[in-house]
Amino acid sequence: MLRAVYPGSFDPVTFGHLNIIQKAAYFSEELIVGLLSNNAKSPLFSIEERVNMLREVTKDYANVRVEVFDGLLIDFARSQNANAIIRGLRAITDLDYELQMSHTNHRLDPNIETIFMNTCTEYSYISSSMVKEIATYRGDVTGFVPQYVVGKLEEKFVGK
Ligand code: ADP
Repeated sequence: MLRAVYPGSFDPVTFGHLNIIQKAAYFSEELIVGLLSNNAKSPLFSIEERVNMLREVTKDYANVRVEVFDGLLIDFARSQNANAIIRGLRAITDLDYELQMSHTNHRLDPNIETIFMNTCTEYSYISSSMVKEIATYRGDVTGFVPQYVVGKLEEKFVGK
């Protein structure tokens, strides 16, 4: 049985992320969604806003927990007694970087296995950056993110 961490920036959480969470939770005794706080990207949402959105949209999953972490992913995984790291694949272009990360993490701790998952096809092209781009220009993002997140995006861009 997996005890897995699913790390990411989740700026904001999308239906693509949620689809991975749903699949990974099904195979896991516990799934810990790890929100990386020391990310070099300049985020739209603060850590508090992102953690709140993640907790809201995952509240119906009894075995999913959301935690914030910084530092090395492998250290976070160890701190959670995880035996697996879940990463999502959107396209073949993700694979080079993800394989490199997976080999590195395996070298750092061979007891923690990286597992790649893909989404159902209707979510495979969705990315947080695309959602933010559309929301900036007041486009309709209802097909890409949960309604709760739609509201948070509207609050960000209201009056701008
Ligand atoms: P990161 O900065 O680590 O890429 P993201 O929040 O963008 O953080 O993504 C977290 C994880 O979710 C990554 O493994 C990413 O590949 C995966 N992911 C994001 N969107 C999708 C999607 N539409 N389909 C499959 N995987 C996805």
